Amino acid sequence: MALELQQYKSQTKPDWCPGCGDFAVLSALQRALQLLQLPPWQVLIVSGIGCSSNLPGFLSTYGFHGIHGRAIPVASGAKLANPELTVIAAGGDGDGYGIGAGHFLHAMRRNLDITYVVMNNEIYGLTTGQASPTSEKKHKTKSTPEGVIENPINPIALAIAAGATFVARGFSGDVKTLTDIMVRGIRHKGFSLVDVMSPCVTYNKVNTYEWFRERVYVADREGHDPHDFHAAFARAMEWPNLEEKRDRVPTGVIWETEAYPTYEELDPSLAAHGPPVKQKLTIENPEEVLKEFF
Ligand code: SF4
Repeated sequence: MALELQQYKSQTKPDWCPGCGDFAVLSALQRALQLLQLPPWQVLIVSGIGCSSNLPGFLSTYGFHGIHGRAIPVASGAKLANPELTVIAAGGDGDGYGIGAGHFLHAMRRNLDITYVVMNNEIYGLTTGQASPTSEKKHKTKSTPEGVIENPINPIALAIAAGATFVARGFSGDVKTLTDIMVRGIRHKGFSLVDVMSPCVTYNKVNTYEWFRERVYVADREGHDPHDFHAAFARAMEWPNLEEKRDRVPTGVIWETEAYPTYEELDPSLAAHGPPVKQKLTIENPEEVLKEFF
């Protein structure tokens, strides 16, 4: 019997501010899981800390609310322990591109088969409005009263350069395209980054829904080929751009390749012993194990 959308919803209602972009991300993710007919008990969603990191509690899948910036390490461990699980990491731009930036980079070069959904609102929302790694230059926030003086991170370009094999940008104001991206990202074998422009209606008064609606476009409707590396990198560099033209923000699947094996496929221990969840918990020859260490 087909799984219904309702079966992916938990009984806990989101506590986000009315109008927060994260509502659309939650809807798109629930819908994508249903379209893929993935049983909730075969899906794990791991998050870090921040408004958006409350997301796992609003789905009926397995969930793990981790610590700040550490969604990726927990998701990596879970995937390696049980490669049959569909593992999704989720969080915000401060969590993933700030404190968790090191984990983000290394997961991409490993090409672990996980999907990372970043709700990017270009501000720290939970702590009431400080500049984040994606805040635009000159943006006046609580922590930058004279305006941001650093260049923002470009997560799309960073992900392509670091070895992610699926890189996409969504927008909370376009749930249909976002759902399509989520379906493709989860289905993709390898590391998938889904960066979502998810406005913080309470603390970011610059990058609003209106701001994005004037600038976003879906790249493949303009002939973009996500399998063309150079075309993908050119799209990635369109925004944010350091010349501050900021005319257009490409969305949709920017880069996709099936050319590389996943970390799980290459891991010699998994090949020799199978996944840890299927191994016996007992140590049959403790003396042999001890010999390895002494
Ligand atoms: Fe969303 Fe911003 Fe409210 Fe947090 S503070 S729930 S990010 S609108």
